[in-house]
Amino acid sequence: MVETDDLLLIDGAAGIVIVNPSAATVAEFRDEQRRQVAVNSQLHAMRDLPARTLCEHDIQLYANIDNPDELDDALEYGAMGVGLFRTEFLFMGHDELPDEQRHYENAIAVLDKLKGRPATIRTFDLGADKLAPFLDAADLEEANPALGLRSIRLCLAELGRPLFHTQLRGLLRASAHGPLKLMFPMISGVAELRATKAVVDEVKAELAAEGIPFDDRVKLGIMIEMPSAALTADLLAQECDFFSIGTNDLIQYTMAVDRVNEYVSYLYEPLHPSLLRLIGTVAAAAKAANIPVTICGEMAGEPMIAPVLVGLGLPPLILNGALMGGLLGLRRIGTLSLAYVAIGTSRVLAALAASALGLGLTGALAVVTLASYVMAGTLWWLCRAEAHLEWSAPRGDRNTVFRTLYRASSAIGVLMALTTVDVVLA
Ligand code: PEP
Ligand code: MG
Repeated sequence: MVETDDLLLIDGAAGIVIVNPSAATVAEFRDEQRRQVAVNSQLHAMRDLPARTLCEHDIQLYANIDNPDELDDALEYGAMGVGLFRTEFLFMGHDELPDEQRHYENAIAVLDKLKGRPATIRTFDLGADKLAPFLDAADLEEANPALGLRSIRLCLAELGRPLFHTQLRGLLRASAHGPLKLMFPMISGVAELRATKAVVDEVKAELAAEGIPFDDRVKLGIMIEMPSAALTADLLAQECDFFSIGTNDLIQYTMAVDRVNEYVSYLYEPLHPSLLRLIGTVAAAAKAANIPVTICGEMAGEPMIAPVLVGLGLPPLILNGALMGGLLGLRRIGTLSLAYVAIGTSRVLAALAASALGLGLTGALAVVTLASYVMAGTLWWLCRAEAHLEWSAPRGDRNTVFRTLYRASSAIGVLMALTTVDVVLA
């Protein structure tokens, strides 16, 4: 029970609230808070570096926002546009339903802030865990809401269709003012996509008849969030302009794990082979049809997972608050590969130099000594100069590899120097 004047410690990342924590716990969290501030400022300093892997893959980082206010932070960290703008906030917690003007102004607010960069706006994705007063009032009797009348199904059903129609009018009007793309959630297959596009055509015809401007060639994309869509991605790709893989739901529906049920959360596995196969299938279908594909689930922001996604052919990533986390992950992989290249190169150079110069054992040892120091210096530079964070991050992660390599190469250098002296004296 929480009482007035109790001290609450909230760990938002872990979803934990501690009531009246001990002094030691407070100190521990203060340390963590300071560490996060330091990491954030280091990430911020990196925001103008190109997001590119060593093998020359450009990574496009787009923001994932739940309302226009969140965009400022994302732009501050270098977002190239908005890849997913969830519009549910217009309905959730409001008794009054948003009218056409509200949808229009909401879209314009984002386009204005983006100053010419693209905004992908998702039509409302309500139902299941995303409730709104009008849904409560409808009192739907559903045993499995996650498998029920939610998302695009709700938009196409009698209950949601007028609201969907209104939203489309507002968004299409906004499309005349900037690079806006429309995205539809939870499309299960071709029939549902066609039904959705028919509503878009209906609204376009209405606006045209009223002489209201809109972008007639506005891009229409879909979220791939269930296996049925992933497995028919080749067919869907023929009928839409882009894909965005919504892994939060794709994991839920592939693994049959309710994404908000803590009892089975251990099964919510982003790197499950079934998921990777589905993502790979979608990426390949998009590539074959020559349409863009992005990934907008939370896993895109995981530093250890983002490189896997890039490897699966998904360089454009859509990230939330962890925007730069993904970048950092990629840079870490890049820096690690550089270190390996440094080691390999110095060894090969040492061997080549020794044989080309016709050096004997002493000469070869001297060259290896020198090469070890060059290698240690390179690693030191990589750790300190290019990715300072690697050096200062805590033990136990992949930074340990750097430190170990650095120490090992320094030790080899010292050993080789001593051996050289030993050989010379002998
Ligand atoms: C997703 O399902 O991955 C997604 C981005 O949509 P939401 O989390 O809003 O369901
Ligand atoms: Mg979803």
